[in-house]
Amino acid sequence: MPLKLSAVISTFPTKESLYQMISGARKILITTHVGPDGDAIGSSLGLALFIKKLNPEVRVAVPNDYPDFLHWMPGNELVMNYMRQKGEVDTYLRETDLIFYLDYNENSRGGQLEPVLSSSGACKILIDHHLTPAMDTEYCLSDSKASSTAELVYSFIREMLGAEHLMDADIATCIYAGILTDTGCFSFNSSRGETFRQVAALLDYGIDKDNIYSLIYDNFSVMRMLLLGHCLSTMRVFPEYKAAYMTLSLEDQKRFQYKTGDSEGFVNYPLSIEGIYFSAFFIENEEKIKISFRSKGSFSVNQFARDHFNGGGHLNASGGDVYKASLQSVTEKFISLLPGVKDRII
Ligand code: 5GP
Ligand code: MN
Repeated sequence: MPLKLSAVISTFPTKESLYQMISGARKILITTHVGPDGDAIGSSLGLALFIKKLNPEVRVAVPNDYPDFLHWMPGNELVMNYMRQKGEVDTYLRETDLIFYLDYNENSRGGQLEPVLSSSGACKILIDHHLTPAMDTEYCLSDSKASSTAELVYSFIREMLGAEHLMDADIATCIYAGILTDTGCFSFNSSRGETFRQVAALLDYGIDKDNIYSLIYDNFSVMRMLLLGHCLSTMRVFPEYKAAYMTLSLEDQKRFQYKTGDSEGFVNYPLSIEGIYFSAFFIENEEKIKISFRSKGSFSVNQFARDHFNGGGHLNASGGDVYKASLQSVTEKFISLLPGVKDRII
């Protein structure tokens, strides 16, 4: 079958040797980026459940907590959280001879896991859809045109392993959840027919797409809904720059009993305002200000985050962080940069 991927970087082993690598490994570890999102967890668990059919010794390691609304996925019990299960991950890694890096393109995005992964002598395979992959792995499947890493995991199974016959509803559910979340429910990153052809094939495994949507999006706690109301009330709009931003301070996190993932997706709201094409969301942490950027159209928030906020990501979704800074100083810097990028925001 011809490869439908639009960009494969680095040569890949043949189907036979990939099978051999997976089924012959002592232990296999799948890892993903810090602050795991729906694509990180969906792609990791989809791949883990698939690999389990070839080799029972497979686990997923995440650097830190991920939102409650992602804990329902099949295979969740395979996840080890390095923040809470450091010893278990360290022990597992000693016997791991195959590592998959999913949904990230820079070692630093591995957070606390980064040093232990980097020092492992295991064979490493990267599967990712971010721009400019910069990781030192033996094999790299990188396609920035793919909607999500989950979509690439499906391509990996179908096209690189020729193992469609090993797919099932649980694997398809995880992959679908990854595609759904990374495309904002098919509102961006999803203009290729290939994405929808893959989704159509996933539906044929009998997944319950409406229930998957509900499990991810219709599960706000009352406090989370009130937090959204609060964050919207912090919004500052700059119509002359087609931009807007919102903030969330540590004090307000306490007030609204903030939990990991509670503000997921909030950064998109200002883009629903007519004439707004660039949105930012600033969250105060103990040691840094974490920023999310989103855009519509051709303005590259990836470049903006790289140039000014020590970050990166995709054309229309990126993030960054600033250490040892106040919310006020970071938002002031953001405002001061708007005139310089004004002409690129369309
Ligand atoms: P989010 O705003 O959901 O945290 O992140 C959006 C996208 O930006 C993600 O796909 C992620 O890859 C990227 N991103 C977020 N934060 C950072 C960061 O600090 N550094 C880099 N390089 N990318 C980031
Ligand atoms: Mn992704």
